[in-house]
Amino acid sequence: MSFRALGLDTNVLRAVDAAGYTEPTPIQTAAIPLILAGHDVIGIAQTGTGKTAAFVLPILAKLAALIGAGQKRGIRVLVVAPTRELVVQIEENVRAYGRYMSVRMATVYGGVGEHPQIQALRSGVDIVVATPGRLLDLMGRKNGDFSGIQFLVLDEADRMLDMGFLPDIRRIVKALPTKRQTLLFSASLSRDIEQVTREFQHAPKIVQIGKRANPAETVTQFVYEVPKHLKASLLLHLLKEPQMNMVLIFVRMKHAADHLADHLDHKGIRTATIHSNRSQSQRLRALKDFKSGAVRVLVATDIAARGIDVDGISHVVNYDFPMHSEDYVHRIGRTGRAHAVGDAISFVTAADYGALRALERFIGRGIVRKRAEGFDYQGAVAQPGDGDERPYRSKQLSPAGHGHSGHSGGSGHKQHRGQGGGHQGTKARSRWGR
Ligand code: AMP
Repeated sequence: MSFRALGLDTNVLRAVDAAGYTEPTPIQTAAIPLILAGHDVIGIAQTGTGKTAAFVLPILAKLAALIGAGQKRGIRVLVVAPTRELVVQIEENVRAYGRYMSVRMATVYGGVGEHPQIQALRSGVDIVVATPGRLLDLMGRKNGDFSGIQFLVLDEADRMLDMGFLPDIRRIVKALPTKRQTLLFSASLSRDIEQVTREFQHAPKIVQIGKRANPAETVTQFVYEVPKHLKASLLLHLLKEPQMNMVLIFVRMKHAADHLADHLDHKGIRTATIHSNRSQSQRLRALKDFKSGAVRVLVATDIAARGIDVDGISHVVNYDFPMHSEDYVHRIGRTGRAHAVGDAISFVTAADYGALRALERFIGRGIVRKRAEGFDYQGAVAQPGDGDERPYRSKQLSPAGHGHSGHSGGSGHKQHRGQGGGHQGTKARSRWGR
């Protein structure tokens, strides 16, 4: 199957050529003709399958036809996505695939000044790519004319529901014309998603790629069983492997992301972090440094990592095992993208066995247990990042003055801190000052 056979317009085909794609991915082959034919489409596909191009390419082709037919310019396309990172990534896709057309686009998301976004909306654009909160905010104050919308895309709809955006999306969609083409993409088809599609779509066609919620086949998955206090040493041990040249590490908590990044930096491994306490420009900078190879390791939390689209990630490390199986699937989808192969490594402590079993049921197969060669499992040198976590948690969970955890947590905490060295006390993070 070729892109040409899918019925795309010449300028879009040129851009696909320039992107170096030789053949459409399965989601593209299935979705593009349906979208070109004017159907509402539900696309069940994970990140890494080429789903962004699956909606951007046909929408651009249709937009080119409308513009070519002399239709009055105005906002025709609205794409709503859960995170700023994803919005930026979709924007990059639109720019790449629209490079031989005269489409104008605005992006709208929180965490940055709204003035340039308002200006952009007023200046006359064809496409708006937005997160729900800021978009609703700006629409509520009558910025931009959305009465001419012909295409609505809800990307990563499952994640938007998880993040509680449904009420915002309802209000946004209410303000749009009912006669429009609506495309919805989601990693899985849950009852909630079905409800949303009934609400927002008309006679949608479903396109489902691969088994539901199954991690990409190209990713090799391993589990390392490791006592919690040895996780940081094990990570350092594994990072000695030269093949681990572009490593995305997931942790559960923001503060743990900073601790771990500090620790790795301290050990001579240049590391960036991405989590919701970082400003938008810091996040973009982190992604840029990671993409360019200026840093070899990116430490991220789940929410912040949504929409990270970086080619060539060699390894995903679940430093903290994900609490939800869906998060695991999303995380490891960051490697093995398109036609590459990648490794997904998960650290599992005694507390994670339940979640690991649930995950294996969820993905319908067992994950290979590995032991790290040459790693001293007995060498119980406590690592700062790890040692800090346990006492924090027990402190938070137990009522004030609870004898047991208060005692053991307190002493363990101090001890690990002491061994962690002074660098943790230095709060200024020089990596952003570069
Ligand atoms: P996505 O699923 O949209 O996040 O896309 C995953 C990656 O696949 C992106 O880096 C795209 O640039 C790339 N990609 C999209 N379509 C193709 C294709 N037909 N051939 C090769 N790579 C592609």
